[in-house]
Amino acid sequence: EAKAAGRNTLRFFDPAMQALVAERTALEADLRHGLQRHELVVYYQRVVDAQRRTVGVEALVRWRHPQRGLVSPMDFIPIAEQTGLIIPLGQWVLEVACRQLAQWAESPATAMQSIAVNVSARQFRHPEFAQQVQALLRKTGANPQRLKLELTESLLLSDTQDAILKMTELQKVGVGFSLDDFGTGYSSLSYLKLLPLQQLKIDQSFVRDVLTDPNDAAIARTVLALGKSLGFGVVAEGVETEGQREFLLQNGCTLFQGYLFGRPCPVDELSLPDQPSKGEAPTWVI
Ligand code: C2E
Ligand code: MG
Ligand code: MG
Ligand code: MG
Repeated sequence: EAKAAGRNTLRFFDPAMQALVAERTALEADLRHGLQRHELVVYYQRVVDAQRRTVGVEALVRWRHPQRGLVSPMDFIPIAEQTGLIIPLGQWVLEVACRQLAQWAESPATAMQSIAVNVSARQFRHPEFAQQVQALLRKTGANPQRLKLELTESLLLSDTQDAILKMTELQKVGVGFSLDDFGTGYSSLSYLKLLPLQQLKIDQSFVRDVLTDPNDAAIARTVLALGKSLGFGVVAEGVETEGQREFLLQNGCTLFQGYLFGRPCPVDELSLPDQPSKGEAPTWVI
């Protein structure tokens, strides 16, 4: 009988588990209200080229919680995914980014900047996703050429045909695509070529120890070579030191993102452009 009651009973009375479930439920209710109360804020982190010129930024959402303080997306994006709140949340981030692009377009000093927006699996799988992005571009007047969408390997693998259709539709109007956290998922090299991607982002977990771990160094080099031969731009994420930048640069990396160049910050703390661009304008896609 004890055995029959088994797992459920155990789980029900496990105080640690119960605390976790309660915490999650509270966070979910909080997030719903937080969205309505405008507690979410979009931070931006610069992406720079080999000359350290800013070519664009990545939009990274934060939650200014009245009690918890600044909450990391790692703590609430998964909950937003599970509950479906990611749909309004993701739409909101996209709209903020598009409005920012439209504003930057008004000044020659910032008109070249791109914004990359992270798109979650559930958001991308929504049947209306491609139409919604186009509607936002029209509504805000943002230049689609300046909008980049960051997708992950698992998202692309779960329904590759559907992904290709949506990406192609958006690419036709000028929107670009990056493969985020590259190397952490299960990409097959053959399907990489099928996808209308412009860019790979080397995950920061490979950049962190690139100078000390020969495996990470080999992976970083391989991704850079792969990007080059398939015609993708490659962004190295999580670059924190001059040594890491130097290694990546020596191995053909042309775009960099990380604390070395700037932490994610509110838009008014970004100074754009950080250096006057002379000669050829910096470009996101190489
Ligand atoms: P991500 O898209 O891979 O973003 C890069 C993460 O690396 C960001 O974490 C950024 O703050 C962090 N980072 C940048 N440079 C460095 C560095 O030099 N060192 C280290 N240690 N970290 C660095 P963040 O902002 O906490 O975001 C975490 C993840 O949350 C993102 O990873 C992305 O997957 C997700 N996320 C953020 N904003 C959104 C959003 O608006 N929508 C969706 N769906 N996901 C988002
Ligand atoms: Mg990203
Ligand atoms: Mg990433
Ligand atoms: Mg990541």
